[in-house]
Formats: sequence, structure tokens, C-alpha cells
Amino acid sequence: MSQRSYGRRRVLVTGGAGFLGSHLIDRLLARGDEVLCVDNLFTGDKSNIDHLAGNPRFEFMRHDVCFPLFVEVDAIFNLACPASPIHYQHDPVQTTKTSVHGAINMLGLAKRLKVPIFQASTSEVYGDPSIHPQPEAYWGNVNPIGPRSCYDEGKRCAETLFFDYRRQHAINTKVARIFNTYGPRMHASDGRVVSNFIVQALRGEDITIFGDGSQTRSFCFCDDLIEAILRLMDTGPDVSGPINIGNPCEFTIRELAELVLSKVDGPSRLVTQPLPQDDPLQRKPDITQARQLLDWEPKVELDEGLDRTIAYFRKVVGEDAPAMAQEVCVV
Ligand code: NAD
Ligand code: UDP
Ligand code: UDP
Repeated sequence: MSQRSYGRRRVLVTGGAGFLGSHLIDRLLARGDEVLCVDNLFTGDKSNIDHLAGNPRFEFMRHDVCFPLFVEVDAIFNLACPASPIHYQHDPVQTTKTSVHGAINMLGLAKRLKVPIFQASTSEVYGDPSIHPQPEAYWGNVNPIGPRSCYDEGKRCAETLFFDYRRQHAINTKVARIFNTYGPRMHASDGRVVSNFIVQALRGEDITIFGDGSQTRSFCFCDDLIEAILRLMDTGPDVSGPINIGNPCEFTIRELAELVLSKVDGPSRLVTQPLPQDDPLQRKPDITQARQLLDWEPKVELDEGLDRTIAYFRKVVGEDAPAMAQEVCVV
């Protein structure tokens, strides 16, 4: 990797004011890098990076990655994209543009600068998988025209672009398929399941299980995920991925709800709401490749990760409760 600015690496993080991006920036700054954070603040929040104001090695730029970006950096982490179903379905055309045009612009930047580039891909590229757990070699089962397609197909097209730029322009690309990751700095109204359940439990509201709660997910704590991303970026140019990053411990959504409720110990009831269309029934990463290539596996169990996330939300949850309950059925 070239050393562009005064012997220090200058690193671009798109989506840096979001949940994962802000944790990544903390780790990059802690190891001595300079960081340029680019974000349009669609789902990100300046409060995630407020603590960095005044740090001479940190810079924030409000910018939409759908538009070209001309900056000088030594490495690029492309995380810009809404990740929660309610947010990426709010403006689906913009979601596809962010994934596809954003990838093209960031790859064009990497090509001009001849620098490595990381892509935050997703387990959603597997859709509603018919193979379980999911290895990287599985091509997936994705609906191309449904409400989740803007995200799933956008991310799949971004992967295509990363591998075509790699083959056509010899760019050092790194693609990680991230499975459900949670932790402090998720937005209270993010809409994803872990933050929803914790915020509902802390407010004493009904905990909304979509469907019968038998669908599964595997939850990775954010610190584990960031460690894997950094390790992937530090591999040689021959390692491209796609590589699954996630925690292989699988839980049903009902188990998660019960665990959160037992930890928060409030008056909330478990209620059901209709399962959203195309909601994957099961998801669990095969992390054999991450173990072998990155010498990585997650360390934080759900029990501990939830405690740390609940402690965070106890501090931030206020009166601005999102209205969540509709069509409920107490169970
Ligand atoms: P997040 O919504 O907290 O962060 C996304 C960030 O991207 C936000 O700060 C948002 O404002 C920014 N953004 C969105 N569109 C943009 C645009 N056009 N230009 C510039 N910035 C834009 O979500 P997150 O969980 O931190 O996810 C980060 C990345 O990781 C995303 O690419 C997501 O698809 C991927 N990912 C996350 C998970 C997970 O479980 N957290 C799982 C799979 C993939
Ligand atoms: N791009 C960018 N910053 C750069 C270089 C390129 O945003 O420093 C954008 C550029 O505007 C283009 C895209 O990246 O739309 C793809 O660039 P590439 O060089 O691959 O394609 P071309 O410019 O030849 O269409
Ligand atoms: N879910 C739920 N209640 C909620 C939010 C989500 O039961 O309040 C379910 C959702 O239907 C899905 C799972 O939890 O089956 C994970 O949803 P999330 O939006 O966190 O991520 P994704 O579906 O993208 O994995």
C-alpha cells in the first residue's frame, strides 16, 4: 500500500457516519491512520462521529457516493448503503443507485489511485437460501423483482463490478459478505431486529416478532466484524473474497426476543406481526474461509454482545419512540 500523506496511510471510509463505519473509523484512527469519512447522512448520524471532532487525523465530508468523488487516499472501505430493510425499501431506486453507481465511482477512484478497495457486501446475496449454512460457493436464491431486491440485487451487481474491475483493471479488491451484525451505535429507529427488540423492551413496549418467530439469524457483535474487515484488508492482493464474515451461532427470532426480554426484565409482551415478503427463513454463515484465510473467528457470544448493546441503548433511548406496533397478536 502506498504511503500518501506524511508517511501515514490516509483511508477513505464511505458510510463512515453509520453503525459499522463509525466503529471501523475508531479502529483505523487507533492504529494511526488518517481517515476521510464520506457520508450523505441518510441513515448515519453525526453523533456516531461527534467524539472525533478535533482529531487532526479525522475529516468528514458530506457527499453522496452516487456522484463522482475526487480525493487522494491510500485505501478505500466502501460501506455506504442503508442496511435496514425499512430504510433501504424507503427509496428503493436510490438504494440500487447507491450500491451500483456508488461501487462504480469508488472503483473508478481505486483504479485512478491504484489502491486497495473493500466492499461491504451482504449475506442477502444468498437471498432465501436453500443451502444451510451458506458457503461462499453458493450462488443464492434471490427474488429479482421483490421489495428486498433493490438491496439484494444492488449488492450482487456491486460484487460483479468488484470482480470485473479486478479482472479488467487489476484492482486489489476485497469483498466481505457480512451476516447480521449488531452493537452500540445502531440507531434507535434503525428497524433491524436486535435494536428493535432492545428499544421496545427498554420502553416497555410490545416486542414485535414478525411471522411465528421460527426464522433464524446468526448475530455477530460489531467488534468481531471490524476485526475481520481489517484482517481481510491486510491480506495480499491474491485474496479477493467473497468471504463470509459473521457469527455461526444460529438463533430463532423468538429465542432472541425471549433473551432480550429476560435481560431487560420489563413489562413488554411478545406479539406477532405479519412476516414481510421474501423474509429469509434461515441464515447462518459457513466461516471456514475466514478461519483459514484470516485466522479469524468471532469471540463475543450473543449473551455478552446483547449486554453491551443494552447498556448502550439504556443511555440513548429517550422520548422519541418510533411508532412500531400495528396489527398485533399477543402470544
Ligand atoms: P448504516 O445504515 O448504519 O450505515 C450506512 C451508512 O451509509 C449511513 O451512515 C448512511 O448515511 C450512509 N449512506 C447511505 N447511502 C449513502 C450514499 N448514497 N452516499 C453516502 N453515504 C450513504 O448500516 P450499517 O449496518 O453500518 O451497514 C454498513 C454497510 O455494511 C452497508 O453497506 C451494509 O449493506 C453492510 N452490511 C451491514 C450488515 C449489518 O448487519 N450491519 C450486514 C450486511 C451488510
Ligand atoms: N471516478 C471518481 N473518482 C476518481 C476516478 C473516477 O469518482 O478519482 C468515477 C468516474 O466519474 C467514473 C467512475 O468513477 O464515472 C468509473 O471510473 P472508470 O475510470 O472506471 O470509468 P470511466 O471514467 O472510464 O467511465
Ligand atoms: N424482525 C422481527 N421483528 C422486528 C424486526 C425484524 O421479527 O421488529 C425479523 C425479520 O422479519 C427477520 C429478522 O428479524 O426475519 C431479521 O430482520 P432484520 O431486519 O434485522 O435483518 P434481515 O432480515 O435483513 O436479516
